[in-house]
Amino acid sequence: MNFTDRIAVVTGGSRGIGRAICLELARRGAHVALCYAGNEAAAKETVAACEAEGARAMAVRCDVSDESQVKALMDAALKEFGRIDILVNNAGITRDGLLMTMKEADFDAVLDANLKGAFLCMKAVSRPMMKQRYGRIVNLSSVVGLRGNAGQANYAASKAGLIGLTKSAAKELASRGITVNAVAPGFIDTDMTAALPEAARTALFASIPAGRLGRAEEVARAVAFLASEASAYLTGQVLAVDGGMAM
Ligand code: NAP
Repeated sequence: MNFTDRIAVVTGGSRGIGRAICLELARRGAHVALCYAGNEAAAKETVAACEAEGARAMAVRCDVSDESQVKALMDAALKEFGRIDILVNNAGITRDGLLMTMKEADFDAVLDANLKGAFLCMKAVSRPMMKQRYGRIVNLSSVVGLRGNAGQANYAASKAGLIGLTKSAAKELASRGITVNAVAPGFIDTDMTAALPEAARTALFASIPAGRLGRAEEVARAVAFLASEASAYLTGQVLAVDGGMAM
């Protein structure tokens, strides 16, 4: 896969899977605009790592659930690079708890960041991508969006919602050379899963046929395929990268 001079916007590129995606694309020739919520030092590290691969890279602080901040992010990327070929909606959060006691604010925060954020970013890039008659959009769903998970009603709803969003956008944009797909990671070793209680980690671990956690780089390689020219006739799909969990 060759991304020479392709321009990618990756949300939540400061850490974890998002950073691995930035690096995978940069290593293969893309230039990268990443956004982050608040961790500027981590975002700068990702930029430096992309530049070390020979790519141009920039980081913008942007809360993806805020339309004006999303517009500013895309405007900054367009000003710097002139086009946007690839959008990876990777930014995401958890606010776990049982349904019965889940606070409305925790439900809203997760839906806003994970689902509305992806919608706003897709909306913002759809016009430039339609004009150039080329685009690749990849949304980070989750195995939890396919199967549900006790204690994650808000997160699972956001990740299942992303699948509906992906398929609808795929139908709207296919005739313009724009593909929209989702990746559904299983249990990947990042800050997000490190925060899980030990009992939840043990239970999840037991449900992975591959018998190990996934690595961020393994998700990034699947994202890169869906972000590449090689996947031109593939749209509206959900690719599970989960060591067999969701079979
Ligand atoms: P992570 O390590 O917690 O990193 C989350 C990233 O999202 C950070 O870069 C963070 O920025 C950014 N972010 C959070 N809220 C944001 C907002 N409102 N606006 C902009 N950026 C925001 O997460 P991860 O494990 O790499 O997960 C990445 C994606 O994969 C998420 O969508 C997650 O749901 C999904 N996923 C992960 C797993 C897993 O096992 N890890 C499994 C399935 C799906 P800061 O650094 O500034 O905080």
